Amino acid sequence: MKDRDTPDPGSMSRPDRIPLTHVDGADLMGLRAPLDDPAREHPFRPLSEQATSRYACILDDTCAVSVPNPATQKEEAALVGAFLSGLDKLFTRENNWTFLQPLLLSMEHCARCQTCASSCHIFEASGRNEVYRPTYRSDIVRRLYFKCVRRGGMLSAWRHGDIDVNWPLVARLIELAYRCNLCRRCAQTCPIGVDNGLIAHELRKVFSQEMGIAPREIHDNGSMLQLKVGSSTGMSAAVVKDNVRFIDEETTERTGITVETPWDVEGADVLLIHNAGEILAWPESVGAFSLILNAAGISWTMSSDLAGYDSINYGLWYDDAQFARVALKHIEAARRLKAGRIVLGECGHAHKALSVVADRLLAGDDNIPRESALTLLRDIVLSGRLRLDPTRNSFPVTLHDPCNMVRLMGIVEPQREIVRAICPQFREMAPHGVDNYCCGGGSGFAIMSGHNFADWRLQVAGRKKLDQVLGAFADCLEPSTRKYLCAPCSNCKGQFRDMLAYYGLWEQNGILYGGLAELIVNAMADVRPGYIEWEWH
Ligand code: SF4
Ligand code: SF4
Repeated sequence: MKDRDTPDPGSMSRPDRIPLTHVDGADLMGLRAPLDDPAREHPFRPLSEQATSRYACILDDTCAVSVPNPATQKEEAALVGAFLSGLDKLFTRENNWTFLQPLLLSMEHCARCQTCASSCHIFEASGRNEVYRPTYRSDIVRRLYFKCVRRGGMLSAWRHGDIDVNWPLVARLIELAYRCNLCRRCAQTCPIGVDNGLIAHELRKVFSQEMGIAPREIHDNGSMLQLKVGSSTGMSAAVVKDNVRFIDEETTERTGITVETPWDVEGADVLLIHNAGEILAWPESVGAFSLILNAAGISWTMSSDLAGYDSINYGLWYDDAQFARVALKHIEAARRLKAGRIVLGECGHAHKALSVVADRLLAGDDNIPRESALTLLRDIVLSGRLRLDPTRNSFPVTLHDPCNMVRLMGIVEPQREIVRAICPQFREMAPHGVDNYCCGGGSGFAIMSGHNFADWRLQVAGRKKLDQVLGAFADCLEPSTRKYLCAPCSNCKGQFRDMLAYYGLWEQNGILYGGLAELIVNAMADVRPGYIEWEWH
């Protein structure tokens, strides 16, 4: 590793307007074969001059949020003031009913043991860059908490560390809140229960709720669009129904089984809500679900209500108010149809949003049962209702554990029971289950590619996962052996699509990615063989 400055948390207020640290390929964690070949390395593209002159890109060599540089000192002071007032509110019960208690625990009780550091894939993959250490961001917030919220004096500053409060600090913190996947692997490791991921999340909340600052991809093109037209994909109800009708026809043609997706059926047992991105990017998953649920005789429907056909809830990552608005739309759709339960399709953040976090919001009649598609699919597969021929899945398969479903909700075994039953060449990644590493696309990164952020996301945030995938297929990396990386989550699939393409792993090593439902249909004996088409998409 090259020598590098190791800035302490106080450096974040450095008044200059130049990056605090750099991302250098020579520092990054080494990758195993075949990506140990220098010919397959990627240069980290520098930010354009336009980006550095227009936006506050003074943390590292990339830019996730694109905050315009304030034009005057007065503007800078106003932004700093809004930040401090938001920080104050964050620590009051009436303004932070969602997460105050674990946040206070995380502020008050860190033992500085650094056990969490080696559990963080971003810190490790970056070559242990100090700025990406889980406690680096937390220590800054802790200093601010004791100085500006608790208003401790000199003794407190001596005990907890001091920090100057200025615009460069706030600008760097905005970016630093978006260098964490919110995967909470560090929180699982912490012997005390301090949650560094939560601290990053709460920072994002202050920036969005109090300062109106959030990445365009998750706010304007995400929550806002979804609340306006019904889906962050921009699809209206008419368009989505049209697209699904087309998917039904395609699936019928491919499988030889007539597939029809039911819409707006009142009183159905299951309201299935997909991440609508699946309908556009991975229609084979949507078609597979329709075919399986029909074949298993499930009473089910989809909804054409506003947001009722899109389980996305990006508010989970950055804004409690947006989160609540979207969650209530999902519940409204289910109530209107008098659905017995909501089943969430293969999307990790949607699982956590509506199943776990929304529990703090939903009371009485609104608390409609919510279930993961993984448990429903497991029940179907193990019930014997489908005729399955595992020999149709005779190719190496590995399974990615989406953080939100696995570590954060404890859904570990259902997907494994399916894969073990229908994939004779299944092999686990190391580590897996609740110890998995994030794909690097978590917390919104998978849909963020502004400036050169994709380089950071794929080279740094996704690096550990990439290495795990290569490890799982180390015995069969030749391109003639087709391998399947099963990722039952839309955001994870987006990250894998980008990562496998970036490193040429489909063309040169035969690694394809896809969901879980497709593997089930591929194994169905009554279906025309070859549901998985082994084509890049
Ligand atoms: S967050 Fe937990 S694991 Fe990390 S330094 Fe603090 S006490 Fe140790
Ligand atoms: S939540 Fe995940 S990405 Fe964020 S600091 Fe912890 S381990 Fe690292």
